[in-house]
Amino acid sequence: MNDASHDTRLLPALYVVATPIGNLGDITLRALDTLRRVDRVAAEDTRVSGQLLAHFGIRKPLVSIREHNEREAAERVIGWIAAGEAVAYVSDAGTPAISDPGARLVAAVRAAECAVVPVPGVSAVAAALSAAGVESDAWLFHGFLPPKPGPRQAALQAWAALPCALAFYEAPHRIAETLADMTQVFGGARMVTVARELTKKFESIETMPLAGTAGWLADDANRARGEFVVIVHAPADVLVAGDAESLRVLDILAGELPPPLAAKLAAKITGRTKAELYRMTLKQT
Ligand code: SAM
Repeated sequence: MNDASHDTRLLPALYVVATPIGNLGDITLRALDTLRRVDRVAAEDTRVSGQLLAHFGIRKPLVSIREHNEREAAERVIGWIAAGEAVAYVSDAGTPAISDPGARLVAAVRAAECAVVPVPGVSAVAAALSAAGVESDAWLFHGFLPPKPGPRQAALQAWAALPCALAFYEAPHRIAETLADMTQVFGGARMVTVARELTKKFESIETMPLAGTAGWLADDANRARGEFVVIVHAPADVLVAGDAESLRVLDILAGELPPPLAAKLAAKITGRTKAELYRMTLKQT
């Protein structure tokens, strides 16, 4: 690229740069611009990030920051920024600090009163949610569940009654047992979206009741391969029913007003979101 902006220096800061989770076309223009202009790139794995940079024709000094050396490496990064450098941090894929290292580095840099600049982009959980069709507005992200069955089931139990969608990351060697545990804890009727290999050649996004997941996996061994985001949809009663008072208010307003306006006013009165109330008006008609 011969854009003149690449010759200008970035302000001294830690630039937290999101990178693709499969399709390299998902890197943002700003991420490329930032990576071209920083003085050095700190990476979770210098080999992985070195390949990414090479693909885009970027050559920078690379420094390794892994979970076990994050604190001491942070001291070096702070030293570089204090000396006037712009430093990028990238994890292997997606957004740093989301089920990835980076949070400790960021905390240390902020504690040293150096600037931290997010350069946002892809995250697997956002990609999965965007295509899952969950109807609830609220969702919670758990990241990876505990690997052992006991703690995993306990973690699921703690979340079972929450009135929102639940998002998890999972590895191929555990996807079957995790979906089996979810079926047991959440009940077979609860809907789930299994998003696999997002943005890659074998991307698949399937929504089904949890009870159907064991048979679905058994039907094709390929369905358990790759990287997974699992989205458990909100309990059905949350999606269908409002609380009695919200329904009463909505009922009165919807008798006099068009649904969008009824939902807007009901949201102001009840404190629920307009989107939730609008969905309720549609279900009532
Ligand atoms: N920081 C990353 C992000 O922002 O998405 C996540 C890193 S975490 C170590 C890796 C996990 O993210 C994988 O085990 C998988 O659960 C999920 N993941 C990453 N890439 C994915 C993809 N292309 N399709 C589905 N899930 C993916």
